[in-house]
Order: sequence, then C-alpha cells, then structure tokens
Amino acid sequence: MANKIFVYIDHFEGRVVPASLEALGVGREMAKTIGGGVSAVVLGQNIDDIVQQAGEYGTDEVHKGDDTALKDYRGEAYASVLSAVAADADVLLFPTTGRTRELAGLVAVDLETGIIPDVIDYEFDGSSVLATRPVYAGKLLTKVVCAESRPQILTLRSRAFFKPEADSGHSAEIVDIGVDIGDMATEVIGYGESQAGVSLTDAAIIVSGGRGVSNNASLESPADISDEAEQEIWRAQQGFKLIQELADVLSAAVGASRAAVDANYIAYDNQVGQTGKVVSPDLYIAAGISGAIQHLAGMRTSKTIVAINKDADAPIFKLARFGIVGDLFDVLPPLTQALRERMGL
Ligand SMILES: Cc1cc2nc3c(=O)[nH]c(=O)nc-3n(C[C@H](O)[C@H](O)[C@H](O)COP(=O)(O)OP(=O)(O)OC[C@H]3O[C@@H](n4cnc5c(N)ncnc54)[C@H](O)[C@@H]3O)c2cc1C
Repeated sequence: MANKIFVYIDHFEGRVVPASLEALGVGREMAKTIGGGVSAVVLGQNIDDIVQQAGEYGTDEVHKGDDTALKDYRGEAYASVLSAVAADADVLLFPTTGRTRELAGLVAVDLETGIIPDVIDYEFDGSSVLATRPVYAGKLLTKVVCAESRPQILTLRSRAFFKPEADSGHSAEIVDIGVDIGDMATEVIGYGESQAGVSLTDAAIIVSGGRGVSNNASLESPADISDEAEQEIWRAQQGFKLIQELADVLSAAVGASRAAVDANYIAYDNQVGQTGKVVSPDLYIAAGISGAIQHLAGMRTSKTIVAINKDADAPIFKLARFGIVGDLFDVLPPLTQALRERMGL
C-alpha cells in the first residue's frame, strides 16, 4: 500500500461505538483522495463480531489483537499494542470517546508524533492532513497540521462525519496481532451504570433543561417538603419530567446545563458544555437555558437548535434556528402532545 491509513475501532461490551464507523468512513474517503489503503485495528477479547463488522466498511485489512490481557480497556496495554501496529502509518484516526482521549495521547507519546484532537473537518495539503477543529469554546475554527512527524493522529468529533453504509459482501483481510503484555499495574474491577440513559454523544436528538426548569411559582411542592432548597429541587424534578416526556417521544437523550447540574437537579453525566459533554446532534432542544458561552461550547455544532425561553433577549436565541418565547411549563406539554399525535404514539 502507498499511504497507510489506520482507524482504531472503539467498542464496549460487545458493541462498536458508532463514531468508530464514522471514522472508518473518513478513512475510506481519505484513501480515495490520497491513495493507499485503510486498516482497522480492533483490540479486546472475543472480538470476532467486532472484527467482522469493521471489515464491512470498505477496509482492506483488520488488525485483530484478541487476548485476555486486552479484555478490558486499559491505557497502558492498549497503547503498547496499538503503537506497535500503527508505527508506520501515515494517518491514525480515532473516534472521540472517553477511552480514546487517553489512548490517542499515549500512542502519540510512544510514537513521538503530534495529535490533533476533536476534528470536525479536513482537507489535504499533499499528503498532509489539514484538520479543522473548534477552539475558544467553539467561537473560532482553527486549521492544524501535524508538522513532519508521522503518523498524523486525529481524533474525530462524534457525529461530525457521516456513518457509511455497511457492505456485508466486502471482505477484509484479517491480520492477527501477536499480543505479549507482561504484568499490568492496573486491573478493571467492574463498570457502573451511567445515569444518563441514552448516550449523549451518540444521540441524534437531545432535549436539555437548564436552571429555568425549577422556575414555576404556581407549582406547590408537597407539604412535607419545608426546606426551600428541597422545594426548588422538587420543582426542578417536575420540569425535568416534562423534558423527559418530550425526550421519550423523540427517542432523545436528556441533557442539562451546568447550572442545573450544580443545583443537583440532575446528574453530572447529563451536563453539556465546556466542562461537560460535547455533542453534535441533528436536533438540540434547549429549555430554560440562557445560552452562556460555556454551554454553547458543547452544543453549537448541533445541526438544528430549538430554544424555549421566557426571556426574548436570552443569548441562546442568537444561535437557535427556531425560538419559542414562553414558559417551558406552558410550552412543553402541548408540544409533546402534538408530536405524540403526529407520530401516532
Ligand atoms: C469554567 C466554567 C465552565 C463552565 N462549564 C459549563 C458547561 O460545561 N455547561 C454549562 O451549561 N455551563 C457551564 N458553565 C456555566 C455557565 O457559565 C452558565 O452559568 C450556565 O450555563 C447557566 O445555565 P442556565 O442557562 O441553565 O442558567 P441561567 O443562566 O440562570 O439561565 C436560565 C434561563 O432560563 C430562563 N427561564 C427561567 N424560567 C423559565 C421558564 N419557566 N421557562 C422558560 N425559560 C425560563 C431564563 O430566562 C434564563 O435564560 C461554566 C462556567 C465556567 C466559569
């Protein structure tokens, strides 16, 4: 092969993280532009299904590292195997996930090369990738190249690129990686259930609530809640129930602003923004969220933004494609009902 484009396939509990397939699509498009082949890398234990899936997206080869030492993701083990496999790659692509943020960095250190994180677009200057990534909380886009060093490592923002169609008739060559990992310093004891339900970063639709979800003076909290802070949380729970109902109708994930999380209305797992999750859904509905720059940093690349806010001057309306000026407690129930009827639910 001329240029070697490697794509790391992130997966968890037997399922490929969808952004990995988007990365395979990018790999294939890159190969069309600069020539060369696309190789997927799958690490883990009992990963035949994932290897097969990775081979169905136009890859030439799938490098398979199947070993008990790779059963659970651990940065040290995965980085040592991946660094050896992808050492002579020209481009190494990762989907952006919690695991790959660490892994891509470790591999870049091992291979003494640069890394361009959170890429949302790219072009080529010869065989060098000219990658576009948001900076300053998404206010500016910057173009970055990986000077002379190779591989050029990019992590791709989830949902910034299209997922290609699978072709079950396509067959890729499977290359077994010899895995030889000594004693590891860490051991994975188990996994905890996330409270967020649907994964925010993979969701096509997100309905988010902010501090405004607790702002309904006409809601009388139950008599046994006398503490003011607890009354506020109770009101917020009623607001988030409306958010959840709309989310259920749309099969959407529930997001939140940091103000809502800090006030204990909802878990941190749901936070969108600079210090929360960065999301790019097709539709983002923000209810009772003012649109502070740190919140926008996490959702400004959403394809369509709908804002519901009492204040017609709220900054979120500057970014929103559709705005509803009104009280979310008045707006959400009929909106949910209308959608339910429209969708025949
Ligand atoms: C370093 C740093 C990092 C941060 N990271 C994040 C982050 O990751 N994510 C994040 O979200 N924030 C983050 N913040 C906080 C951010 O600056 C804002 O404080 C926060 O986003 C505000 O949340 P909010 O819009 O829910 O609340 P507010 O700003 O209080 O806005 C509430 C909005 O609800 C409207 N409203 C009130 N009642 C109703 C009603 N009944 N119906 C309809 N509308 C109503 C109001 O008009 C108002 O616009 C960060 C701040 C800092 C300094």
